[in-house]
Amino acid sequence: MKETILCQGCWEHMHMPTAIRGPLAFLFKTFGIKKSKMHPNMCTFCETNFAKIMKHKQIPVPTTILFADIRGYTDLSQQIEASKLNELLHLFYDRCSAAVWERDGVVNKFIGDAVLAIFNFPLIRQEHVHNAVRAAVQLQQDCEHLKAEIGLADLHTLGVGIGIHTGECYIGEVGTTYKDFTAIGPVVNLTSRLQGAAGIGEIMVTQEVFNQVKDQFPDAQKRTLTLKGITSPVDGYVLA
Ligand SMILES: [Zn+2]
Repeated sequence: MKETILCQGCWEHMHMPTAIRGPLAFLFKTFGIKKSKMHPNMCTFCETNFAKIMKHKQIPVPTTILFADIRGYTDLSQQIEASKLNELLHLFYDRCSAAVWERDGVVNKFIGDAVLAIFNFPLIRQEHVHNAVRAAVQLQQDCEHLKAEIGLADLHTLGVGIGIHTGECYIGEVGTTYKDFTAIGPVVNLTSRLQGAAGIGEIMVTQEVFNQVKDQFPDAQKRTLTLKGITSPVDGYVLA
């Protein structure tokens, strides 16, 4: 990922030159504006400002949502030291973030062990569905490499399950004191459930996502899923 001097969110949405790197960054820092943890080319002003504006506007935004969850590490806690396990989790989050950032998605928050990534907001990218799928493929590959690096390549109970769905979301707030933005709505809920239905090492996507990437995944496997909290069965595709 190429690091930018100006915040891409501020620039693309408001044509506002907010320096997050370079000689002028200190100036913004004195006003409490610095690099965002959601995406290194975005600023903290974006985090709070977008939450405010979008909540007020209440317009749905087309987004692609990716949920990734690390599985089997609780069992691992009985086999390896806590410090090593912690290191493993950090490495996982780092690589997950890198895969998402590379494709202009933001890592919105960590729910337990799960990562929620949003594509197409605030960085608007026409190819957001493809970007999310590419990030997921890279994440699965990185996870395999990571396991090999730490000598756990044969441990098949350890890995990542990923769910991806696309559709219109609302941008709302999370947090009480420091309100930053998140995606809200049925698309997010369905993606979360989909991720739960994905097995270790799998990328499970909805029909909407599959329609856009099917040429690249001719061997995808279709599954009819009954998901908690969703009334009718959902067709899921495991990308292979
Ligand atoms: Zn910004």
